[in-house]
Amino acid sequence: GMRIERVPTLRDNYTYLVIDPASNEAAVIDAPEAAPVIARIAKLGVRLTKILSTHHHLDHCGANPELAARYGVPVIGHVSDAERIPGFTDGVDEGEQLHVGGLSAEVVFIPAHTRGHVAYVFPGAVFCGDTLFAGGCGRIFEGTPQLMHEALNLKLARLPDATLVYCGHEYTESNLRFALTLEPRNAALVERVAQVKRARAGAAADWHDASEAEMTVPSTIADERATNPFMRASSPELLASVRALLPATPADPASVLGAVRALKDKF
Ligand code: ZN
Ligand code: FE
Repeated sequence: GMRIERVPTLRDNYTYLVIDPASNEAAVIDAPEAAPVIARIAKLGVRLTKILSTHHHLDHCGANPELAARYGVPVIGHVSDAERIPGFTDGVDEGEQLHVGGLSAEVVFIPAHTRGHVAYVFPGAVFCGDTLFAGGCGRIFEGTPQLMHEALNLKLARLPDATLVYCGHEYTESNLRFALTLEPRNAALVERVAQVKRARAGAAADWHDASEAEMTVPSTIADERATNPFMRASSPELLASVRALLPATPADPASVLGAVRALKDKF
């Protein structure tokens, strides 16, 4: 067994606690502000043993020093980001294992949003920060469309279909609104848009007060493969839509992803 708690932080960020019920140990993943995390840890009565960061942006790791000092725990991130992740103590890299009580996670290196971005793959759940979003992907700040394609389609898309996708932000509704402009006849996408609209219609005024019902995260790898425009280069409808706007787009998946990203940046 493994328990995952979603803690709404900042305006639309997700902070996660991964808990091993057998040992009562927990890790926090991507904490930009300390107070809601401290409150949730106290409410649950779990013992925090690790801080994991997916990447160096402060909306994912700004609270690391405060939490590390309070609980006396290490801060883990990609080895290349030792100088950029606040409170950094332990570097990890592709294929390494880490443990939370009796739970094991594997590190998957997915640079593109930033050059030191990683995902943490626990049994049945991936924590992927700002690389794969529900219905979208992060901006390519420190990489290339080829690297983002490798991250999404060669690494994350190969996880089992039922794998739960825990991303860094509640961006799903606007991501899917964009997706629908490219694949209006994708039935799975039309259905997902309706579901997400219903969930978001009940959203609290302050994200810190968000109910579980309004959270559209997690999705699954199967959902993303069926509806995420950054994983849909093989869809003839998507390719035709992209070429109607960017006619010179080559058909290879990295080029299609780059074109979709350029369109989304202006959406
Ligand atoms: Zn980011
Ligand atoms: Fe972010």
